[in-house]
Amino acid sequence: MQEKLTLMIPGPTPVPEKVLMAMGKHPIGHRSAEFQHVVQRTSELLKWLHQTNNDVLSITGSGTAAMEAGIINTLSKGDRVVCGDNGKFGERWVKVAKSYGLDVEVVKADWGQPLDPETFKELLDADFEKKIRAVILTHSETSTGVINDLETISKYVHNHGKALTISDCVTSLGACNVPMDDWGIDVIASGSQKGYMMPPGLSFVAMSKRAWDANKDSDLPKFYLDLKQYQKTVVKNSNPFTPAVNLFFALQASLEMMQQEGLESIFNRHGRHRDAAQAGMKAMDLPIFSATGYGSPSITAVAPKNIDAEILRKAVKDKYDILLAGGQDHLKGKVFRIGHLGFVSDRDVLTAIAAIESTLVSLGINNSNLGAGVAAASKFLN
Ligand SMILES: *Cc1c(COP(=O)(O)O)cnc(C)c1O
Repeated sequence: MQEKLTLMIPGPTPVPEKVLMAMGKHPIGHRSAEFQHVVQRTSELLKWLHQTNNDVLSITGSGTAAMEAGIINTLSKGDRVVCGDNGKFGERWVKVAKSYGLDVEVVKADWGQPLDPETFKELLDADFEKKIRAVILTHSETSTGVINDLETISKYVHNHGKALTISDCVTSLGACNVPMDDWGIDVIASGSQKGYMMPPGLSFVAMSKRAWDANKDSDLPKFYLDLKQYQKTVVKNSNPFTPAVNLFFALQASLEMMQQEGLESIFNRHGRHRDAAQAGMKAMDLPIFSATGYGSPSITAVAPKNIDAEILRKAVKDKYDILLAGGQDHLKGKVFRIGHLGFVSDRDVLTAIAAIESTLVSLGINNSNLGAGVAAASKFLN
């Protein structure tokens, strides 16, 4: 049967019909009063989602654009930064920082393990001359399904006094609690195709007052991603360039849906899906790849022992039209990942677990206890 694809990848994520319908309109003039209205409304809702009083700026581009914007608008050539790297996205921010000539110290953890906040503390405490200008890290490391302890790390950064916390919250915002102001995070980057329940194409960057102070001295080259231009226009409910007008319609619809559900219940839903996915996999003797207690609320990485993860993943797609994500780089074939981010219901999670369970049987993998995965997951869904 065609046309029944279920996306269980960590982006693009499924899009509700209400959001799709909101997009399916003629574009309107981006300098019109009607569009200003959309920008005003989405700006308010973005602040609500980030739990901040700072403006949240919208960029036409994917999540990487927002993260790059955060880096190049707060830092200067040769600045010393500390980058957390425990997966594919951590690696990316190291590359971006180096490509702009920053002096990068990398704090690593093995893939599947969380970053150790104490390593950041030691580096920050030892920096008597206050040379470190930023700590750059990924909150939810999508490649490994690990959530890093952003709250503690950003507290240590604050104690340092000079450095900023620049955080990739692409798969944590809208999935778990990321209170920007309470935690004192200086830059948060996110993207529309993740927790926002939207198609790809928009990304968001929120900057604290400290980040704007740093912006005054920042000399890295920028034009399209010069956030001062976005800041100047957002207060007039406008945009420096032609924004993706129809994606803004989608943004308004999706944020209104999120507000209706409420932050608390959104976070509970994602936590429940992580717990159900983990329990389901363990009950089928499929080990969880991320360290115990550090599972991301948006993605569960699984490392099967007796079968190539790609074979299983492809069989689930062929037989049930459920798209799981594969492992990246050296994890290809070793890991598959279940995305449960954004517009995902209990039914979707249960269905994915049942499909994996049934596929294991059809692949002849010993599974004498058929139904164990669904049973274990159900406990968390009831
Ligand atoms: C998806 C993702 C991004 C952004 O990737 P784009 O392809 O640029 O949207 C950044 N960080 C993490 C952790 C992600 O999962």
